[in-house]
Amino acid sequence: MAAVGAVSRALAELHARLATVDEGAVADYIPQLALADPATFGLALASMDGHRYAAGDALVPFTIQSVSKPFVYALALAGLGLDAVTARVGAEPSGEGFNAISLEPGTGRPANPMINAGAIVTTSLIPASGPAERFDRILTCLSAFAGRPLDVDEAVYASESRTGDRNRALAYLMRGAGSLTEDVEEVVDVYFRQCAVRVTTADLAVMAATLANGGVNPVTGEPVVPELTAERVLAVMATSGMYDAAGDWLLRVGLPAKGGVSGALIACSPARFGIAAYSPPLDAVGNPVRGVLALRELSERYALHLMHHPGTAPVTAAWDMHGEAVALVIAQGPLEFTATERLLSMLAEAVAPLPAAGGVVLDLDRVSRVDRASAAMAREELTALRRRGLTVAAVGEAGAAVLDDPDHVFATRERALAWCEQQVGASEPPDGQQQTGASPPDNRHW
Ligand code: GLN
Repeated sequence: MAAVGAVSRALAELHARLATVDEGAVADYIPQLALADPATFGLALASMDGHRYAAGDALVPFTIQSVSKPFVYALALAGLGLDAVTARVGAEPSGEGFNAISLEPGTGRPANPMINAGAIVTTSLIPASGPAERFDRILTCLSAFAGRPLDVDEAVYASESRTGDRNRALAYLMRGAGSLTEDVEEVVDVYFRQCAVRVTTADLAVMAATLANGGVNPVTGEPVVPELTAERVLAVMATSGMYDAAGDWLLRVGLPAKGGVSGALIACSPARFGIAAYSPPLDAVGNPVRGVLALRELSERYALHLMHHPGTAPVTAAWDMHGEAVALVIAQGPLEFTATERLLSMLAEAVAPLPAAGGVVLDLDRVSRVDRASAAMAREELTALRRRGLTVAAVGEAGAAVLDDPDHVFATRERALAWCEQQVGASEPPDGQQQTGASPPDNRHW
């Protein structure tokens, strides 16, 4: 599918700016992680339509670490159900660090599945006849979320296995309290392997998009977990995904998210997209500095906060050829980030078959509202089309908001089409097949 230039450029611009941020420290308590290059920085986004965008080092592999936790939690929920899982792992934000001894007094039940204690119990819950099969199930599940077969970084696994005494201690405490029932060494070994699964930023964006898309991988189309499971995982990510910064994160960014010590970060915008960042230097809480800044900025700029008023109705868009040299693209509803991304993808599709000096009419007469960032995205795309030599006309008030030249904005679709046809000299098609300026496109659905 066509990837929109404006989204790619927004990611590239953000990437270039944040690449100069020089704060945070690369995790070194797992010796192998300390070898990561602090300058590596990738950003990626995957939409519900399976459109993929990336900037920087989005194809550089690294270990998934704690970002595996929501996906393994999803696997546990899908297999055992909510009640069986919450009986063993809570869903309360711990307000503590990722490796805190955060166990319920009396039962030893860990606070939530996003901190290590809860993740270790969650791993132990995956039904299997033994540790090898358990890990196999986890790897298969993570691969389905990513839409490609993943593998393990054996060096990082061995490094954590040699040094992971705090996690072993946590597991022994839980075993002592009765909240972990499986063999400690076996469970911790599976957990270390799960943390050492190798992914790229591009993979993580698709994995996050799968959660945002109700459990269906938007690229492969595979249903990975039930919709209700995905919804519940997003809920726990929203309250507990960012460790003791979870409250501040919900306040400023407002998206379910999960970070990990390798420098990976995912965020999910339900029914819109998944986004991922990779940059090894971490803040004091253990979240990746550049990733956090990137998400803060994107959320604010594109009004992605979960609590943001969504507008009245989703945008619908359609396009059709109007003769051989003019394409007509129509949209209705409010234009926010996702609607604009979708509309611009359609625009890219619509202009693809046009001749070099063709024209396009963007009818936004029925667009009820355009936010500032969306108008800027559309304007950028239309300017790029004009630079390529295409004639561009827009219709309606929203059309005026997205086109720089007021002379090319028209009150009606008919006038815009007539003008555009005249510009491209397409008013006299050789075979007389051309539709008239007033005829509606075949595939419009309103
Ligand atoms: N494997 C790491 C650990 O257990 C994962 C922690 C993290 O990414 N925050 O320490």
